[in-house]
Amino acid sequence: KVAVIGGGTGFIGQALCKSLERNGYKTVAVSRNPGKSTITWKYIEQEGLPKNTEIVINLAGEPVLNVFKRWSASFKKEVWESRISTTNTLKNAVLCSESPPKLWGSISGVGFYPPSSTLVYNEDSKPGSNDLWSDLTHAWENAGKIEHKNIRHVVVRSGVVLAKSGGALPQMLIPFKLGLGGPIGDGSQWFPWIHIDDIVGIFMHAIQNNSVNGVLNGVAPDAKTNQEFSKYLGSVLRRPAILPMPSFAVNMLYGPERGIMLLQGQNVYPKLTQASGYKFVYPTLENALREASS
Ligand code: NDP
Repeated sequence: KVAVIGGGTGFIGQALCKSLERNGYKTVAVSRNPGKSTITWKYIEQEGLPKNTEIVINLAGEPVLNVFKRWSASFKKEVWESRISTTNTLKNAVLCSESPPKLWGSISGVGFYPPSSTLVYNEDSKPGSNDLWSDLTHAWENAGKIEHKNIRHVVVRSGVVLAKSGGALPQMLIPFKLGLGGPIGDGSQWFPWIHIDDIVGIFMHAIQNNSVNGVLNGVAPDAKTNQEFSKYLGSVLRRPAILPMPSFAVNMLYGPERGIMLLQGQNVYPKLTQASGYKFVYPTLENALREASS
């Protein structure tokens, strides 16, 4: 049995491929570059899915918070296109397959829900309107939508994925280890997070349980503000965490439209994820940080 993972070369993709292989799958990554166990997007467009494909999941996307890439119109287009067009390519291959896979999955972000300091969101909450990140995640999810009686479709709306190597945490650790860490902006914004073992765990749960369908929030059930997150990180590392990163610096580095991702946040609860039977490996921030920052 074969699992085809768009963006299987990336941070989450590699972790998911490892878990799939431990569970008896042969994994094939879809990438811009061919390689070992890797096929290109062009190959999928021309040839469709490899034989015996049971699982197809898309995790591809141009990284958004890359400080070295200026937030220009063309970069914004790349951020958008890299998600929507890869999703379309895999969805079409799924729909055209002679023996359809049993699961079609994709990732999206908690940016689907508009930033708010007071609301608590679950999977049934509505996206924002006139909000760039809601618009992007909404369009990304819509691109993946299928109606097919034999193919389950699952979307995981992920928070910031915490891991020892890869993702945002290793870069965040640098100032904290030097004792120069602290909250971003005034720190009151929510900071939805999840441990890498759980984002992979949720996809594996969806693969292994035929009743799992639709949208699942990929966030731990232990919502924290950015200030609380900084405090926990400081205490796990036994370092002070009091030096805030001012909002103007964030806006200068990332541009105000992207800066919103760091300066504002949303309190997201994994209601349907838990109702579907998923048990978090790292339900609390303290344990997740102890593992990921050790
Ligand atoms: P990575 O950046 O590690 O990997 C994503 C993969 O996407 C890469 O391996 C790359 O594959 C492919 N990719 C990158 N740029 C482009 C592009 N311009 N066009 C086509 N493909 C591209 O990301 P993560 O594993 O961290 O995240 C996976 C997905 O999950 C992303 O879509 C991300 O937005 C989303 N997500 C991640 C979160 C996180 O905290 N990490 C949180 C919420 C959502 P290759 O170079 O082989 O073509």
